[in-house]
Amino acid sequence: MVAKKPRIVIIGAGMAGLTAANKLHTATASTDMFELYVVEGGSRIGGRINTSDFGGDRIEMGATWIHGILDSPIHKIAQQTHSLHSDQPWECMDADSATPTTIAEGGFLLPPSIVHPITNLFNTLMDYAQAKRTLIPHKPTTATLSIGSFLRHGLDAYWDSLKEQEEVEGFGNWSRRLLEEAIFAMHENTQRTYTSAGDLSTLDYKAESEYRMFGGEEITIAKGYLSVIESLASVLPDGCIQLGRKVTRIEWQAENSGSGNGFCSSRPVKLHFCDGSDMCADHVIITVSLGVLKAAIRDDHSGSGSEFSPNPSQNQQSVEEQMGGSYSQNPLFHNSWSLLQWP
Ligand SMILES: Cc1cc2nc3c(=O)[nH]c(=O)nc-3n(C[C@H](O)[C@H](O)[C@H](O)COP(=O)(O)OP(=O)(O)OC[C@H]3O[C@@H](n4cnc5c(N)ncnc54)[C@H](O)[C@@H]3O)c2cc1C
Repeated sequence: MVAKKPRIVIIGAGMAGLTAANKLHTATASTDMFELYVVEGGSRIGGRINTSDFGGDRIEMGATWIHGILDSPIHKIAQQTHSLHSDQPWECMDADSATPTTIAEGGFLLPPSIVHPITNLFNTLMDYAQAKRTLIPHKPTTATLSIGSFLRHGLDAYWDSLKEQEEVEGFGNWSRRLLEEAIFAMHENTQRTYTSAGDLSTLDYKAESEYRMFGGEEITIAKGYLSVIESLASVLPDGCIQLGRKVTRIEWQAENSGSGNGFCSSRPVKLHFCDGSDMCADHVIITVSLGVLKAAIRDDHSGSGSEFSPNPSQNQQSVEEQMGGSYSQNPLFHNSWSLLQWP
């Protein structure tokens, strides 16, 4: 009798899922040790990476930047696939101005003497939040501190620390305080775009310092971020990636009780898809975003059904905590919910 090969199913064909698939396949291709599938709910690969054409230019609808090229695996792939150069115009946003111009509503050009102190304050506070500095002055002590409340607390402390400030003139209805408030808010809005957080008060303070940047320049990819995704997918065998396969439920059965109860005869995980079909697996790697995961776990409490059975309740707090932020970290389920690992 030929022994069944273990089957690994990766849920999600975004950067995380395809990187995992690429690594697994390239590390073991010659030995043909297991069956590998990537099931993707959408109709394309890439997830939150989606390069598109707009009026003849190449634009990014999702991820745009390589945030630091030193030791970045994305940069390495982009170099290998010659994706960093292109004849076609692309949305190139490299190189920020070292001396940006700041203009207040009404067309008032703001001098560095007004802009710099608030900009420095904001950058210093973010350095503390990102653990680039360790001694945190004026840090509020609430248990669930958000980035938003930390920043506002810092601005209030800054204002409290000032004795008398000279009022500004020549800026219409703008007072110094209003200008400083507006400059601070401008930086908060920029920070929101970095993190994709709708509101910085939903961004967990503790999680902020877990984010690690690569060193070096931040650049865009001339042939599009999707070229990196396509490169990762290109080595996978035909049929490995299955599109339009939205997983609606994942069942795990520790002790296999055979096929009599409708469960898989020899594989402990059963995936159910939106079209009513199912697939059995030995190992499942879930790369859906934490937002999707959180919605699935919350749905269970509302009684409308969860994606998971049994629900990984012991890890729900981790999900909730992580989702205080909006990072795209990926939980890894490996055969048992008790092995749910968090970055
Ligand atoms: C507008 C925007 C701009 C960004 N800019 C940058 C940037 O400049 N630089 C940068 O480094 N990062 C950026 N990011 C973040 C980056 O895009 C993500 O970190 C990264 O693409 C996440 O990849 P992932 O594989 O973890 O998740 P995703 O890309 O979300 O992939 C998860 C996949 O799982 C699929 N899926 C979900 N539920 C199911 C289900 N039930 N069944 C089957 N499949 C399912 C989804 O369709 C998706 O394809 C940006 C993100 C956005 C949205």
